This record gives sequence, C-alpha cells and structure tokens, in this order.
Amino acid sequence: TSKQSVTVIGLGPMGQAMTRAFLANGHPVTVWNRTAARAEELAAEGATRAATVEAALAANELVILSLTDYDAMYAVLEPAASALAGRVLVNLSSDTPAKAREAAAWADGHGARHLTGGVQVPPSGIGRPEESATFYSGPEEIFEAHAATLQVLTATDYRGEDPGLAALYYQLQMDIFWSSMTSWLHALAVADANGVSAEEFLPYATSTVASLPGFLAFYTPRIDKGEHPGDVDRLAMCAAGVDHIVHTARDSGIDAALPAAVRDVFRRGLAAGRPGDSFTSLIEVFKGSNS
Ligand code: NDP
Repeated sequence: TSKQSVTVIGLGPMGQAMTRAFLANGHPVTVWNRTAARAEELAAEGATRAATVEAALAANELVILSLTDYDAMYAVLEPAASALAGRVLVNLSSDTPAKAREAAAWADGHGARHLTGGVQVPPSGIGRPEESATFYSGPEEIFEAHAATLQVLTATDYRGEDPGLAALYYQLQMDIFWSSMTSWLHALAVADANGVSAEEFLPYATSTVASLPGFLAFYTPRIDKGEHPGDVDRLAMCAAGVDHIVHTARDSGIDAALPAAVRDVFRRGLAAGRPGDSFTSLIEVFKGSNS
C-alpha cells in the first residue's frame, strides 16, 4: 500500500474509532494503549500492536494521541522521551489552550513537532469527513504535510500557527454548547413540573435554537465595534425577563441556580449603569471593563 502509516496511542472509544477509520482507508496502523487488552480486537482487525511506547513511536513519523487529557500524554510519553525526536505528534486529546502551548514547547524540546487538534464529534462521527471538521493549529508546513491523512478522520479546519488556537476554538464551542444544553435541560425540568413532556416541547425548543443564528449575525458587527445601542433591546427590559424565568422555576419547585446565575450577570450590568444599553453590553461585565 502507498497510504501513509500511522501510530495511534490511546485506545479509548475515540482512539479505537480513529484506528478503524485509518484501517478502513488502507492506512497501516500501529497501536499502543496503557491497558493492553484494549488493543486485542483492533489487532484482529489488522492493526499492529506495539509492545512498548518506544516501539509505537519508532514505528511511524505520524503519531496520533487520543488520551483523556494532556497530563495523560506526559504520563505516557515522558518515560519514552528519547524516542520522540523526528516524530509529529498530533494531539487529539481535549485540554486548555495553555496546556497545548506548553506541550508544543515540550515536544520541541525533544526534537518532535506538535499539532494541536480539537475534535468536535463523538466516536460515531469519526471516518465521516463530510460531517464535521476538527480544529488544528501548530506549524503550518507540518499540518499541510499530513492533512490528507488526517482528513480520513474528519474534515480539517486549520486555525493558525499558535498551538493554543485549536484548543481555544474547541473550548469556545464547548462554552456555547454546555451552557445551551444545560439551559435546555433546565427548561425541560420546569416543563415537566408543569406536565409538559420533553417530546411535547421539542418543536418549541427547536424553533428557539433555530432562531439564534439570526441574533448572532445581527449583534456580531456591533460587538466587534464595541457598540451596544439600546435600539432593539434594553438591558433593563431583558433583566426583568430573566427575573421571571427565575420565579417561574421557583414557583414550579425547580432549582433556579442556573437562571439565577444569568440574572446575577444582568444585575451587574444594571449596577454598572447600562440599563438603556443592549444586553450585549454584558460582555463588558465579563471582561471586567465596568468601573
Ligand atoms: P477516554 O478517556 O475514554 O480514553 C482515554 C485514553 O487515555 C485511554 O486509552 C486511557 O488508557 C488513556 N489514559 C488516560 N489516562 C492515562 C494515563 N495516566 N496514562 C496512560 N493512559 C491514560 O477518552 P475518549 O477515547 O472518549 O476520548 C479521547 C479524547 O478525545 C479526550 O480528550 C476527549 O475529551 C476527546 N473527545 C472525545 C469525544 C467523545 O465523544 N468521546 C468527543 C470529542 C473529543 P486506558 O485504556 O489504559 O485507561
């Protein structure tokens, strides 16, 4: 075969899906996992098991890391650091931008190159590049040299040289995702307390979420200009609305900590003297630029 051979270190659900996607596309794969038993099925499907981390690193220039976090990477690679020279580490473990920058410097110190990745799909989305893109950052020529192989896993979205960028974009997406999904669960608890099932509410939840892109597009240029005019929404009006959400939850016997936290941000905006500005002025509360 002429397909690039790869090493995959870390065989959780994600590393296993990645290994299978490479094998299905004709890429020879060498695997290593701390719990060796997790490599057995993959070996039966055609992967080569490395007996040691050193052997896994020696097998291929391109080394995919799919570990719980960056601390797990150090736990695995520190003892084998002498085998790192000349390797390209593609770190598809999630962590913070600071950890990614630190790891890139650490890899450089051992003569290896580091690409940070931020995978945005569950294991079932691996091997379907038409469905999602993974953020990458780090040395551009290293990314370009391996992009075709990485595109077996997902599409690629190269964000820039700063090794922290892929992790940053990933965390920004998760910031939106978890706050939104948690607010949805909160609304469902209030709905349930009032005899409305998740199923009944689904079309309404869907329509609210589907309306968000219009708001994002409208407010984005204003936010980039630092302008928060109260021409279409006023913070004082929005704060009263958020207060009603808290009371509706409490009246329903539902924990109101989540909307109360949102209300607290609105109250800090009001206290900063912005009642006539748009709710988007709350970004200044987050930045701590009110005084
Ligand atoms: P898991 O946490 O299930 O897999 C962890 C892997 O890391 C296992 O191979 C485990 O080895 C290994 N590991 C953890 N700690 C250590 C350690 N101290 N020393 C050696 N090996 C260690 O994660 P997933 O496979 O689900 O995901 C991998 C990465 O992908 C994570 O960073 C995750 O955030 C990210 N991701 C996952 C998604 C998902 O839906 N699963 C979606 C998007 C990103 P062992 O088998 O021996 O325990």
